[in-house]
Amino acid sequence: MNSHLDLLVIGGGSGGIATAIRAARHGARVTLFEPHELGGTCINRGCVPKKAMWLAADLAESQRMAKAVGFDMKPGMLDWATFVGHREAYVLRARTSYANRLRELGINHVPAPAHFVDAHTLRAADADYRAPHIVIATGSRPRDPELPGGDLAIDSDGFFKLDHCPARAGIIGGGYIGVELAGVLRSLGSKVDLITRGGLLSRFDADLGQALSGMMRAEGIYHHEGCAVRGLHRDDEGLWLDCSDHAPHGPYDQVISAIGRLPNVESLQLEAAGVKLGKIDEIITDEFEKTSVEGVYALGDVNGKPALTPVAIAAGRQLADRLFGGKPDAHLDYSCIPTVVFSHPPVGTVGMSEAEARKQYGNAVKIHKARFTPMLWSLAGRDGKFMMKLVCAGDDERVVGLHGIGPGMDEMLQGFAVAVRMGATYTDFLRTVAIHPTAAEEFVTMG
Ligand code: NDP
Repeated sequence: MNSHLDLLVIGGGSGGIATAIRAARHGARVTLFEPHELGGTCINRGCVPKKAMWLAADLAESQRMAKAVGFDMKPGMLDWATFVGHREAYVLRARTSYANRLRELGINHVPAPAHFVDAHTLRAADADYRAPHIVIATGSRPRDPELPGGDLAIDSDGFFKLDHCPARAGIIGGGYIGVELAGVLRSLGSKVDLITRGGLLSRFDADLGQALSGMMRAEGIYHHEGCAVRGLHRDDEGLWLDCSDHAPHGPYDQVISAIGRLPNVESLQLEAAGVKLGKIDEIITDEFEKTSVEGVYALGDVNGKPALTPVAIAAGRQLADRLFGGKPDAHLDYSCIPTVVFSHPPVGTVGMSEAEARKQYGNAVKIHKARFTPMLWSLAGRDGKFMMKLVCAGDDERVVGLHGIGPGMDEMLQGFAVAVRMGATYTDFLRTVAIHPTAAEEFVTMG
């Protein structure tokens, strides 16, 4: 029995590692269990390799626009295998840096799966580990389509294993992953069909999904909305989707399913500790990330709160500060979390959608919107408009939601999120002198 420990962390992804590092910095003796690569989904099969692909796709678009404005160049295809080599080298550097930090801080990394023996004991590789605090940060995995022929589809994990660009791709799902992969593949030369049971980005302000759908269509993505996929089959021509509209959808070289993610809890034997689960097996936690069992906590994708890397990291650091850093009230404030969807172009959003604001504030909601053609698009003769929206509430028109879609929105959002979080009003925005000529200035000049 390894019992001279303060904290056991199950899962070496963003949330688990952040918790372990912060706790160790406070002097806690920490053991972390991770049987797979350190870094979890974000580093290995999510944000980081996805952003690399997005950057490659962005370069492809820039090449085309450079030609359109007069550069003497012939936009070419990406050598996919070469780029994947660069991408994976980057991922490896990130993973190695994690391993080094754990070692430097004296965190014991056990490369084996752990499961509960009781509320304070874990078993991994035939050894028992006991500590007063256990953090579950095991993340999530892609939801299976559970359709006839569903195993013919790959998911986002499978996307990162592709060794070439599929010429024809069918994508199921209009959330973060569906629209991100649709944009990447289209920019890199695939013929892309995006099949969604509703509209795009249904959890965000409705104007964003509508604007994105229009821009995707203008770029040649076939977006078929309101269409339920009933199954998949393959014939000599390729893969086909069998849909509620009975129209032929295909043939495709790859079908990618992106219909949400499920928490990783199966192997934990949570029943041995008595940890309670919710509707989709997410671990139920309170605002302090406490589960139903004293001394057991859960954070990151596994607890069903916003499944975003920075959320998991922030929640883990707050928890470690609370348990070991002398800050008894430390916890993450989940309101006003900014998020970017790396579609082409990117979507950025923070705070309430118009519909949410109207529900909460009724008639005291005022909307300010701007639509304009980004300068480079105009120069290059590309169709489409940047869409920006401020959702304001109350007599002082406090900005309770800020949304946008257009080139550069990803980098623009972080600073504006600070203003929204601090309670800035529409007048504060208008009083801020614009930076000209930029796209961002429209947020402070919209009438
Ligand atoms: P999302 O929850 O974002 O979107 C799921 C999509 O699949 C929705 O369009 C949903 O439709 C649809 N869907 C759900 N069930 C079915 C079904 N049975 N049949 C057909 N369609 C279905 O999930 P993703 O998989 O795209 O991403 C998972 C999570 O990962 C995200 O929510 C996000 O938290 C995180 N992520 C974050 C990224 C970022 O920060 N940039 C990037 C990628 C992922 P409907 O809208 O109708 O419910």
